[in-house]
Amino acid sequence: MKKNGLSDSHINNTLKTNMLFSNNIISLNVNLTKAPSEIIHYIIIHELCHFKITGHSYNFWNLIRSYVPDYPKLIEWLNINGKNLLS
Ligand SMILES: [Zn+2]
Repeated sequence: MKKNGLSDSHINNTLKTNMLFSNNIISLNVNLTKAPSEIIHYIIIHELCHFKITGHSYNFWNLIRSYVPDYPKLIEWLNINGKNLLS
């Protein structure tokens, strides 16, 4: 998250996911359509949870876990395969 609180591009910088808090808009890189559906689901849930909690606190990850219990596995997949989605 940028210090001005307007965008959030932390999931994977190469995928450039963005959330604009001021207008309640989430924009996702079109290359995400190449990812497995559970990855797309996780990323959307992740960004939606930021409408409720802006940082990555313990409470944020608990909220993520309530929707996507196996999220650590999905983060691992993104860390390994995220860059390949761009090619
Ligand atoms: Zn986040």
